[in-house]
Amino acid sequence: MAKRPSKHLREPRPLSMGGFARLEGKADGDWMVQTMPADSATKTYTCPGCGQPVVPGTAHLVAWPREAGIGSTSAVEERRHWHTSCWQRRR
Ligand SMILES: [Zn+2]
Repeated sequence: MAKRPSKHLREPRPLSMGGFARLEGKADGDWMVQTMPADSATKTYTCPGCGQPVVPGTAHLVAWPREAGIGSTSAVEERRHWHTSCWQRRR
């Protein structure tokens, strides 16, 4: 029987932008939130809070559920880009 690989599983590090994700509790669960500095924002995203684009060069934040949803292999795949103000309005 083959030896098991090391038990030292790495913490998932989905977003290698430096910076740390923090945990925020919202009404619908716990979310990991990471700020995205303006110089890392190079694509346009749609903010789920207001439906408006998050344009490149805008400091914003990325949020994803702490636990992957049903049918999702990775919570990180569910991450969304939010305007900072929209996220803060969210409960
Ligand atoms: Zn927004």
